[in-house]
Amino acid sequence: MKSTQGDGHRHAPMEINHSEFRRLGKQLVDEIADHLERLRSGKVTAGKTPKEIRELLGNRQLPETGTDSGYLLANTTRMLMDYSLFNGHPRFFGYITSSPSPLGTLGDFLASAINQNVGSFSLAPVGTEIEAQTIRWIAEMIGYPSDCGGILVSGGNMANFVAFLSARRAKSAHDIRTQGARNDVRIYASTETHTWVQKAADMFGTGTDAIHWIPADNEQRMDTTLLEQAILSDKQRGLHPAIVIGTAGTVSTGAIDPLPEIASIARKHSLWFHVDGAYGAPAAILPEASEDLKGLQFADSVAVDPHKWLYAPLEVGCTLVRKKENLLDTFRFHVPYYRFGGTEDDQPINYYEYGPQNSRGFRALKVWLTIQQVGKQGYIGMIRDDIRLAEIMHEELRHYPELEPYKQSLSITTFRFVPQDLSGSNQQHEEYLNTLNTEILYRLQNSGEAYLSNAMYNGKFLLRACIVNFRTSVNDVKDLLRIIIRIGKDTDTALRQEGKPR
Ligand SMILES: *Cc1c(COP(=O)(O)O)cnc(C)c1O
Repeated sequence: MKSTQGDGHRHAPMEINHSEFRRLGKQLVDEIADHLERLRSGKVTAGKTPKEIRELLGNRQLPETGTDSGYLLANTTRMLMDYSLFNGHPRFFGYITSSPSPLGTLGDFLASAINQNVGSFSLAPVGTEIEAQTIRWIAEMIGYPSDCGGILVSGGNMANFVAFLSARRAKSAHDIRTQGARNDVRIYASTETHTWVQKAADMFGTGTDAIHWIPADNEQRMDTTLLEQAILSDKQRGLHPAIVIGTAGTVSTGAIDPLPEIASIARKHSLWFHVDGAYGAPAAILPEASEDLKGLQFADSVAVDPHKWLYAPLEVGCTLVRKKENLLDTFRFHVPYYRFGGTEDDQPINYYEYGPQNSRGFRALKVWLTIQQVGKQGYIGMIRDDIRLAEIMHEELRHYPELEPYKQSLSITTFRFVPQDLSGSNQQHEEYLNTLNTEILYRLQNSGEAYLSNAMYNGKFLLRACIVNFRTSVNDVKDLLRIIIRIGKDTDTALRQEGKPR
């Protein structure tokens, strides 16, 4: 063996000796700590184009031989610090991506070092039980029965997919496992539902035509009168109503469907009731949470996204299913070559039987550590502050005649920039206002001064701030509005000079 030298030990090119590992690790932690210290005074993003970033990496061939680890780590750290978008920045208000828990970051490092395979108890004894406890705690936080079944997955989409598959397996009129999808399930979802539902219907073979879209009201909440009418008319047509999906916090405006009413309609017609709480479910931890939100406790399954409002570093989503048998029934196959023991009265949990993955990482650790670091009261405080800041932003808009407020729900606030001579409802201006606000958003995102995303509301392009960021303060909110006023005025002037129609 070439890699075995005279001492009889193996010297693999990948191995790093202990003192070198220690040195590199400490250096990396120091640089990350420096980065966190500098975060607030730096930009949210360097705002580079795909081409610029591609050129940074260069068009090099697969390396033939190795490179020094220290050199690689130093260079890569610098590149990531210089060119990334930092969702941990206090003025990052985009999408629904949170500042990551610093303890969670360390937890991820630890998890990867121990490298547990949380597919089975025998491969990850502590990891398995930590995941089970994490799932119970997440359920408890959102007011869902903590004896439910559950599994951690990569994110909100996956969490919804796992629930969807369980729902369909439970409610299908035939044995879907052996006979496959036969277009016999009808799925009810409001028009504001996240696009995961189309992906699910497509990937899992029900087809998107199986989705019966229920209109949303002016507050973007599912109209439950229309829901019940839809179920009844489908039944009359001989179709098989099977699954209804409610959303606890829509992506665009944070709207919460009337979950208790949907629950009672689902019960009456024997439908599976799934709640997509990827964004909003954690807000159910607040004592002042609305009854609509607390209604997620009636669901047969809930999707939660710890990498959103529980501030876990990416990736981690979570599916909760009221009866754990539904998960097992969907994902467990008894095969002779897997022998994972335990005794009659001390059965191990083997997570490969609860979801689609076989080998699984230890994504529970970062969540488990953070939950203990801050406790229930810590989460109540942070989530409440995020909501309060979004409300303050909405209130502050009135100081700026050019900023037209729209919705405020959970920690999302939407508004748009309207030049003063174009205010008042005039359909003619709408096209220009959409162009203007699109351009404002583009310029803001590239400036790196702050980061927003957008929402569409009744054909209007709105600027949208979502605060799932424990670093954001009142000053950041006020700064954001001032920045938008400045960029808004500049952009308006520039567009008018270009002769864009108003
Ligand atoms: C974010 C989100 C999703 C998708 O979650 P990912 O973690 O991005 O996969 C689904 N539904 C809602 C309501 C969301 O907010």
